[in-house]
Amino acid sequence: MHEMAIAQNLLEIVLDESARHGMRRVDRIVVQVGALAAVVPEALTFCFQVVSQDTPAASARLDIETVPVVVRCPLCGELFEVEDRFDACPDCGPVMSGMHMVSGREMTVLSIEGEGDNEGVEDHDGNQGAGGSEHPGDQRPTGGRKS
Ligand SMILES: [Zn+2]
Repeated sequence: MHEMAIAQNLLEIVLDESARHGMRRVDRIVVQVGALAAVVPEALTFCFQVVSQDTPAASARLDIETVPVVVRCPLCGELFEVEDRFDACPDCGPVMSGMHMVSGREMTVLSIEGEGDNEGVEDHDGNQGAGGSEHPGDQRPTGGRKS
């Protein structure tokens, strides 16, 4: 259950950012997690609820987007998305070593919205343009009950 560690890490980032922007309360957090991070959105939502208790982020809604794994071929420098294997380049064929993972394992906080700050925090440095963003429904962290 590594979601707990991720949730704690996320909370630190959120509290840090919200404090920096003078937010009194965090309403919404959008995070991207790489496909290889093997994060279960429901589990992360639950864990974040637990760790954010008694913090300004306690009632925040967590929107989790899953991004594909992107690697860079060391031979031609091409970037491409892969499913789960990344040992072959579409152009060069199998690459025995040095396929560089660009994204897929990390967690990126895309935006934090809250009260006390009208503009929110937009941090769109990791735009993949891959179109694979899927919102896992409208899950309020309060209650934790489905349907
Ligand atoms: Zn290549």
